[in-house]
Amino acid sequence: REEEGEELAVAPSSGKPPVTPDSVINLDHGDPTMYEQFWRGDAGERATIVIPGWQTMSYFSDVGNICWFLEAGFEREVRRLHRLVGNAVAEGYHVLVGTGSTQLFQAALYALSPPGAAAAGAPMSVVSPVPYYSSYPAVTDFLKSGLYRWAGDARTFDGETYIELVCSPNNPDGGVREAVLKSGTGVAVHDLAYYWPQYTPITEAAAHDVMLFTASKCTGHAGTRLGWALVKDRVVAQRMNKFIELNTIGVSKDSQLRAAKILKAISDGYDHAPAVGDRTRLFHFARRKMMARWGALRAAVASSGIFSLPDELPGYCTFAKETVAAYPPFAWLRCEKEEVYDLEGYLRECKIVSRGGAKFGADGRVVRISMLDTDEAFAIFVDRIAAMK
Ligand code: PMP
Repeated sequence: REEEGEELAVAPSSGKPPVTPDSVINLDHGDPTMYEQFWRGDAGERATIVIPGWQTMSYFSDVGNICWFLEAGFEREVRRLHRLVGNAVAEGYHVLVGTGSTQLFQAALYALSPPGAAAAGAPMSVVSPVPYYSSYPAVTDFLKSGLYRWAGDARTFDGETYIELVCSPNNPDGGVREAVLKSGTGVAVHDLAYYWPQYTPITEAAAHDVMLFTASKCTGHAGTRLGWALVKDRVVAQRMNKFIELNTIGVSKDSQLRAAKILKAISDGYDHAPAVGDRTRLFHFARRKMMARWGALRAAVASSGIFSLPDELPGYCTFAKETVAAYPPFAWLRCEKEEVYDLEGYLRECKIVSRGGAKFGADGRVVRISMLDTDEAFAIFVDRIAAMK
C-alpha cells in the first residue's frame, strides 16, 4: 500500500495527464503502462544502465553476423529468455533485431515477396483471418509497394501464393491461432507479440519459419522500440536484414543494451534472485494484474447486462506448470443491444475511447479495448462499463 502511494506521487513516464473520475479514458492503443509499477519497484534498479559517452558509437556490432548491428548481449538474453519461458525454439534460428517488431514485420513482407512477381505486375497477397490486427492492412499498404499488397481476410482468400499473418494469441480478440491457409507456395509469418505467460498458457515451444516478438508487450518497454525475429532460413534472414539496413542502417545500440539489461533482469528474477513476492518476477506480477483486471471487467459486464466478451480459455501452461486461464491484452467487447451498431461512438459518449471493429475487418457492434493501461484509468473504465444499461 505504502509503495503504491509512493508510485502515485511520481509523474507517469507516458507524459499523459493523470486521470480523474470525469476524464476521457483512452484505451484505443495498447500502451503497456501497466508495467510501470513493476519497474518502479526492486526490479527497476536491476534494469538500470549507464552508457558512457564513448560507447555505442560505431554502426557495427559484429561484422561476421548476418545481422551485423545486433549486440551480442541482446542476442544472448533473447535466447536465454526463450529457454526460460519455453515459448519458442531459438536454437538453430537466426536472431534479428528491429525497431519494434513493426519494422521486422515490414522486413518480413519484403523478404518473402519475390521481386519477379512485382515485375510481372502481380504483387504478393498479404492476408490474415478476421478479426486481424488493424496495423496489418495499414502498414502493408502505406507505401503502395509493388512487391506486396493487402488482400484481406485469409478465410475468404482464393489463391495459391500469399503471406499469411498469424497472430497468436490474436490482437484483437485473444484467439489462439494457427495458419488457416495450407498451400505449398504460401508462407506464414507468426506474430507472437503476446505469446508470454501473463497473457496465455504456454502450451508448446513455437518453431515456425519466421517468428516476431517485441519488448513492448513482453516487458512493457514500448518506448525502447525493440523487437526481435527468430528466422529459420538463412536467405530469408539475409533479406530481412537487408531491409533494415536500407531502412534505418541498423537499430539503436543504446536501446539494445537497455533491452538486454531488462531481459536479463527478468531472467535473473527467476534464476537467482530470492523471490520477494512478485516484485522480481515479471510474469507473475503481470499475470496477477491481468487476472484481477479480467475478473473486474467480467463482473462489470455481468452487472451492466448489455455487453459480452469472448469466453475464458484455460490450458496447461508449461511455464507455470499448472492449468491457467488466458488473460488477453485486449478486451474484444461486443454490445448486445439491437440499436447500438456503432459501439465505438456509443462508448465515446461515456468518455471511453476504444477502437471500432471495422478497423479489424469486423462489424461496428464490437470494439477493442486495451487491458494494459494504468490501474487508475482501468478502474474508471470498469466503473463506467458497469453503469451502462
Ligand atoms: N504485433 C502486434 C500483434 C501488436 O499488437 C503490436 C503492438 N500493438 C505490434 C506487433 C508492434 O509492436 P512494436 O511496438 O514492437 O512495434
